[in-house]
Amino acid sequence: MTAHESPHQELHARHRAVLPDWLALYYDRPLELTHGEGRHVQDAEGNRYLDFFGGILTTMTAHALPEVGKAVSEQAGRILHTSTLYLNRPMVELAERIAALSGIPDARVFFTTSGTEANDTALLLATAYRGSRQVLAMRNSYHGRSFSTVALTGNRSWSPTSLSPFQTLYAHGGVRTRGPFAHLDDAAFTAACVADLEDLLGQTRGDVAALIAEPVQGVGGFTSPPDGLYAAFREVLQRHGILWISDEVQTGWGRTGDHFWGWQAHDTAGPPDIVTFAKGIGNGMSVGGVIARAEVMNSLDAGSISTFGGSPVTMAAAGANLAYLLEHDLQGNARRVGGLLLERLRSAAAGLGVVREVRGRGLMIGVELVLPGTDDPSPRAASLVLEAARRDGVLVGKGGGHATASVLRIAPPLSLTVAEAEHGADVLGRALRTAETELGGKATP
Ligand code: PMP
Repeated sequence: MTAHESPHQELHARHRAVLPDWLALYYDRPLELTHGEGRHVQDAEGNRYLDFFGGILTTMTAHALPEVGKAVSEQAGRILHTSTLYLNRPMVELAERIAALSGIPDARVFFTTSGTEANDTALLLATAYRGSRQVLAMRNSYHGRSFSTVALTGNRSWSPTSLSPFQTLYAHGGVRTRGPFAHLDDAAFTAACVADLEDLLGQTRGDVAALIAEPVQGVGGFTSPPDGLYAAFREVLQRHGILWISDEVQTGWGRTGDHFWGWQAHDTAGPPDIVTFAKGIGNGMSVGGVIARAEVMNSLDAGSISTFGGSPVTMAAAGANLAYLLEHDLQGNARRVGGLLLERLRSAAAGLGVVREVRGRGLMIGVELVLPGTDDPSPRAASLVLEAARRDGVLVGKGGGHATASVLRIAPPLSLTVAEAEHGADVLGRALRTAETELGGKATP
């Protein structure tokens, strides 16, 4: 017999004893998810939850999507894995589809197993292409946790400091409603960020390799610049020959509703030079990748293989998932249901001092929380809402900058229904009111 009250507690203790202390776990009583279906998941104790977060983590379309399961088991029944040293039909077919969807002329695709690795590869390409190891990134950004990508991540609250030798310069613009330019209107904000970028570049020898940016910052709290900011940046970058890398790990595949890729909100100047993707495209299988025009992709001067990137079973999963997404117009669903969810959350939050802003695009919605009566980010409010919503059967995420996870991150699978959106918004409304009361706020009626 163990000294623990339940198998769940025992597992938690074993997790703590053998995994790193810095591996973050949500909830006072962390969840062990054992089943999923559609937009719902179930834990080891049989509790059922509406999943308002997993859509961005792993499950782009729906949990346990039969089409993906079938593609995986058919492929696994033939051969699980080969290597990029041999021809691989599922990889070629998926690369063709992604290249066609990318908007990048003469696009080439390279598959990885994660977003971190995709960004690492993008860095390898951009630095080789430009012969420089200086890179621009955005304040409050997140790009991964490898030795090179931590050095790009401006949001240190979600990424360890490291002794990575990468030289990164951080530009303003990823966060619209906080920071030194927050008081300006959109046009003046964009002009100020462009001037700041020019100033930053003036401090270099002009040999920067690339700018990497998330169109909507994910881990940083679902915050985005005014539309067109990256097009304005691009004009400056092109004058210096600097590449634009769009990190679409959270924003790709229609998540933002109006656009298939997040960069399209800025598209007056054309597509980025490099796009990276990962997370939900495999609907649970580890798939990431890089898309670049051939000239950039082919700038490496040595042969290469990836042992697991592009493995047929993950390609089959991603292919089936992408086909489902396109056939069912889940981008359109993200726009319609996301728009409704945003409105519903805004009315649920009206009059609550704990809510500073409800913002979002498609099914990527952030609720920024503060200590009522102040403008101070409140990680405690976010924890209270997460716990209360969980008790009421809804899972959400959190994120944000300045060492504070004070923004609720809402990113359900893209097949979310109207009824589920309405139910989830009602639960979150109650959870927000719980946090408001707990923190001593006085909601205006
Ligand atoms: N880029 C962005 C924008 C991300 O949100 C993440 C993951 N949170 C990554 C890169 C890293 O992806 P992965 O966890 O698959 O390595």
